[in-house]
Amino acid sequence: MAGIYIHIPFCKRKCHYCNFFSLASQKLKSPFLTALKQEISMNRDYLGGEPVNTLYFGGGTPSLCDPAMLQEVMEMTSFPDIGNTSPPDIGNTSPPDHRNTSPPDHRNTSPPDPSPQGEGRSPVPGFKSTSQGEGRNFFPNWREITLEINPDDVTKAYVVELQKTWFNRVSIGIQSFFEEDLKYLNRTHSAEQALRAVKLLQDAGYSNISIDLIYGIPTSNQARWQKNLDIAFSLDVPHISAYALTVEVKTPLAWMIERQKSAPVSDELQEQQFRWLIKEATANGYQQYEISNFCKPGHHALHNTNYWKGIPYLGLGPSAHSYNGSARRWNISNLSSYIDGMAKGQPVYEEEILSSEQKYNEYVMTSLRTMWGCNLKKISYELQITNYKLIMKRAASFVQQGWLTEHGGVFFLTDEGKLFADLIASELFVT
Ligand code: SF4
Repeated sequence: MAGIYIHIPFCKRKCHYCNFFSLASQKLKSPFLTALKQEISMNRDYLGGEPVNTLYFGGGTPSLCDPAMLQEVMEMTSFPDIGNTSPPDIGNTSPPDHRNTSPPDHRNTSPPDPSPQGEGRSPVPGFKSTSQGEGRNFFPNWREITLEINPDDVTKAYVVELQKTWFNRVSIGIQSFFEEDLKYLNRTHSAEQALRAVKLLQDAGYSNISIDLIYGIPTSNQARWQKNLDIAFSLDVPHISAYALTVEVKTPLAWMIERQKSAPVSDELQEQQFRWLIKEATANGYQQYEISNFCKPGHHALHNTNYWKGIPYLGLGPSAHSYNGSARRWNISNLSSYIDGMAKGQPVYEEEILSSEQKYNEYVMTSLRTMWGCNLKKISYELQITNYKLIMKRAASFVQQGWLTEHGGVFFLTDEGKLFADLIASELFVT
């Protein structure tokens, strides 16, 4: 199985903390979409015929584009020769077995509901025939088609348009339910718009909803964080992603802190709120299946889990990354150059062939963060690591310290260890 990520590089304005590639101007939207279609055509062989079962529109702010436009792009990615090899069947409303999207263990075995449009409804509402032929379903292997949405884009009319597309999962960038936090982050929506967005989507039958929250915001405190979590749980969404506010270089946030126009981001506040998040999410029936991701049983995000599992994916759009099992490549983070390159049919990426050490390091870094843990067998046999003994010694010292546990040949971070995930992983790297 494989995935496709599509980067939509437009935002209404830049959030203060953001270092994703996106522009606050939308004037190149039309040439961008033309370039994107060209890139799709140029990369049909990248995944080597591997069936694609997840598609993710991220950004940027994909909800700034008309759903119909995104649908058109989506249909282009579903050409059989980009990876969907199974025969089309538009009438099949029960998607195939939920593949295990996850790295090993603690695993949640109940499959997520891939048909968030509601029981009995087609997973492909508004299906349109494409140039490939009447009545053909070009993505029989697709299980999850996600759209990132900003709350202020969600109106009744927008949701009606969205229902005509094949999206079956939405990820809403809420970040906080407090105006002070949203203002500090320079978000374009209000707390009230966030609540309304969730309700409009749920009323329209979307149940496979994820919301993003940010903790450790200097305008926040323990009481506000508790309230944010209470509201999030009350929305009855099956998936919550919660990230620590990070001060990235060259962002307005870094500038504000440097010039003392903002209080610095406090490690203590972040730690306190992270601990509280784990406790409260667990008490409310969410599994922490990755350090920043929590879900109700069976609702882990398939697309992102594939990244953590090392499954190949094709990234399209400026700054998008791709991985085919042996090499990584990343597109240029410049929209004009991307458009020019695509117009000339020229590649706009750099590529790196991964060594076995790099693959091992990436595996440790990602797998340790998940509830499926880091499998020692993979380390000792598949990755051919010569200094296996040294790594085991280091891991054992973390076990002694109470940061790691080991069950059946798999290492897991303890709750305490989750606070030091990057440090622990880096100690287990090979160079
Ligand atoms: S909406 Fe998302 S991508 Fe756009 S500026 Fe804000 S954080 Fe960055």
